[in-house]
Amino acid sequence: MPLTIHDTLTNTKEPFTTRTPGVVEMFVCGPTVYDLSHVGHAKTYTQFDLVARYLRHSGFRVTYAQNITDVDDKIIRRAQELSADPRELAEKYERRYREDMVALGNNSVDIHARAHDHIDQIIEQVQQLIERGHAYRLDDGWYFDLASFAAYGKLSGRTDIRPEDSLSRIDEHSGKRNPGDFALWKARKPGEPFWNGALGEGRPGWHIEDTAITNALFGPQYDLHGGAVDLIFPHHEAEIAQMESASGKAPLALHWMHTGLLRVAGSKMSKSSGNFTTIRDALAQTDYRTLRYTFLSQHYRSSTDYNTEALQQAQAARRRVENFARTITTTDTAETVSTATEARTAFFAHLDDDFDTPGALAALFDYIRATNKATAAPGPAAAQLLADINDLFDTFHLSTERGTDESAAIEAALQQRELHRKNKDFTAADRIRDDLAAQGITIEDTPEGTRWWPTPEQQTGAQLPLS
Ligand SMILES: [Zn+2]
Repeated sequence: MPLTIHDTLTNTKEPFTTRTPGVVEMFVCGPTVYDLSHVGHAKTYTQFDLVARYLRHSGFRVTYAQNITDVDDKIIRRAQELSADPRELAEKYERRYREDMVALGNNSVDIHARAHDHIDQIIEQVQQLIERGHAYRLDDGWYFDLASFAAYGKLSGRTDIRPEDSLSRIDEHSGKRNPGDFALWKARKPGEPFWNGALGEGRPGWHIEDTAITNALFGPQYDLHGGAVDLIFPHHEAEIAQMESASGKAPLALHWMHTGLLRVAGSKMSKSSGNFTTIRDALAQTDYRTLRYTFLSQHYRSSTDYNTEALQQAQAARRRVENFARTITTTDTAETVSTATEARTAFFAHLDDDFDTPGALAALFDYIRATNKATAAPGPAAAQLLADINDLFDTFHLSTERGTDESAAIEAALQQRELHRKNKDFTAADRIRDDLAAQGITIEDTPEGTRWWPTPEQQTGAQLPLS
């Protein structure tokens, strides 16, 4: 089945097309690095990690770029509060962000592009806008003239500012021609970082950073632009206005995808409302696979509530899959192969349908339920299915991931322990159990013999520095 995606631009589900067959140039708005990232960011980036992984799984050659907003009002304000150097502050929180993504297993981004490294391209794009009559100058810098771009509002279906918009990013000046006009280049202010070039001393506005970067990487048009839903207006409208005006080519991106927000007790998780949990704190409370499962078990477009119950449900669901994996044997029957093949078809059909991860996981649980009731135990076809799913989701700790040598050593230790138990040497038997526990192996004595599995991890493998 061909892949379809829900496109924000048309507000419909449509076939996923690309400018060059088999090639995807993909851009997702990255973080503004002035503080630690929170779990709301983790949701967005984990869901786009799945998108990039699935596009690659489907045979596309994907170049996935993210910008790093490291020149921005928020960074300057924060640095002033802390009496810190804005450059050092941004570098520190970019490192923290990158560490957080590694800890979350988000490994699909190819290019992290900093605004700070693209100042020349930013200046060049503002000059193009000036030459084409889309920008005007006020005493504090250059502004985009929204009246010069008739298609403004085509992504969001509106041109007016609403209470839910992030107003801290709106540039205020009484001389603006239209209330929504935004800064392209901000003239130097005392105590702020600045660059000197054709536009005079100053620094870029927020929106222009992204289009200068994507123009440098991909040119004026590319395939897929993503971000969280609260960036549609005004940020993504501004990107469209800038790039399509500067290049004279439309559309900027063939497809637009937006993720729903993470909520806490019904309100958007955000730095400004103070209801946030940092990714680091979340990973101290639960493991990264449970966090990934929490995000990926919901549709990317829906808003998700973040709370202990959601994490517990995710952990329980993960365990059901991991317990099923432990029942997998080394032999298949015609029936176990055909049920695994049917499950595979159902699973991937859901992903082809606008990355419907909850539908795909429901198909997996249908398969697990049916297989648990069937007479023949699952075999290698089931193991391969779970491994392929986990390549995309990275949500399950599969015992089959352990090497056969290690499994043989564990089996040998368990036989030795059984011998000690028969000889009533419980001290020696317990020592073997404790040794295995220290290696991360949990054992359980059942009427059918002793079973073992990797102890579910409390934390991710990646170590995070403390601050
Ligand atoms: Zn952006």
